[in-house]
Amino acid sequence: IDEVCFLSFYSFTQKYPPVKFLSEKDRKRILITGGAGFVGSHLTDKLMMDGHEVTVVDNFFTGRKRNVEHWIGHENFELINHDVVEPLYIEVDQIYHLASPASPPNYMYNPIKTLKTNTIGTLNMLGLAKRVGARLLLASTSEVYGDPEMHPQNEDYWGHVNPIGPRACYDEGKRVAETMCYAYMKQEGVEVRVARIFNTFGSRMHMNDGRVVSNFILQALQGEPLTVRPTSCFFFFLPSDLVNGLVSLMNSNISSPVNLGNPEEHTILEFAQLIKSLVVSRSHIQFLPEAQDDPQRRRPDIRKAKMLLGWEPVVPLEEGLNKTIQYFSRELEHQANNQYI
Ligand code: NAD
Ligand code: UDP
Repeated sequence: IDEVCFLSFYSFTQKYPPVKFLSEKDRKRILITGGAGFVGSHLTDKLMMDGHEVTVVDNFFTGRKRNVEHWIGHENFELINHDVVEPLYIEVDQIYHLASPASPPNYMYNPIKTLKTNTIGTLNMLGLAKRVGARLLLASTSEVYGDPEMHPQNEDYWGHVNPIGPRACYDEGKRVAETMCYAYMKQEGVEVRVARIFNTFGSRMHMNDGRVVSNFILQALQGEPLTVRPTSCFFFFLPSDLVNGLVSLMNSNISSPVNLGNPEEHTILEFAQLIKSLVVSRSHIQFLPEAQDDPQRRRPDIRKAKMLLGWEPVVPLEEGLNKTIQYFSRELEHQANNQYI
């Protein structure tokens, strides 16, 4: 079911989407940092519907209240406007630590803040996990592999990152965040899980996300040229697949990093052509020069996730793209309707 339609259907018929009943023994108190963002809000939906108590902590840098508004007022839900760079004192059983801008324009907007969020923010959340004995899952990234020299990338690859390039605040920030997780695990016995997430797209992505899927869809919908950079291959998958992977990793006994991504291969040009045809757009395709430090190829080796979690992405690409196109059309409409208010 399209999660957006599903949720809007319920907002008309009942006050909240349906929530499973869990006994006190099975119900967990779960903190999601960055829970008002794209991935975090889908994770919030899953954990709320599964019957858990969810606290979302977000500073609304790239996230929005709208992404989780359908839960506001629910007895199992709490939304806290807080920056993870500041300490946080609450009581929880699990922490999904997602707080961090994720797209290059967002994380490059204020590189020092990106570094603080990924380092001090992660340290604070590990400190919290240590104090309350919670398990922490870090939303890490395929960017820790940098511009990789081996294909596909498995979890043993150490990466090829420019430490002083324009992407370093994010790439190195996440690498340090991983290092911190394992230092807290070894030194303090904190239970950690590390998901290395590959590019994901879908509803509730920021309109100005600036990554290729949202760019192409918006360009196609607005009749503007689709701007293709000459990277050879790229891979994407959908938030529903990702969220299932995150939850099963959190509840597994795998403390080492696990890749979550789609190993299906597409060139950027193929993507542009597919989106153009799905939108039935008259936009033409414009080729741009390569961006500095742009990874040329990236492809996850997901054998570990398959073998140990029984996980792999299942939503077909066209289905995901169609839903995302619908989402962006509605967002454009929403913007146009609110422009003159
Ligand atoms: P997003 O920008 O939509 O969500 C990030 C959320 O974190 C936002 O709600 C933002 O307001 C919040 N945030 C940022 N800094 C904060 C701070 N200092 N304190 C509190 N909240 C803060 O991005 P997303 O795509 O949902 O990404 C979520 C996580 O997954 C990020 O950690 C990102 O690095 C990781 N990730 C995402 C992708 C992807 O393709 N979307 C790929 C790899 C990794
Ligand atoms: N911290 C937090 N919430 C807690 C416990 C700790 O935000 O419930 C922060 C704390 O302020 C510190 C960081 O986490 O900045 C690291 O905490 P830890 O206990 O590991 O280190 P210490 O405070 O002993 O240096």
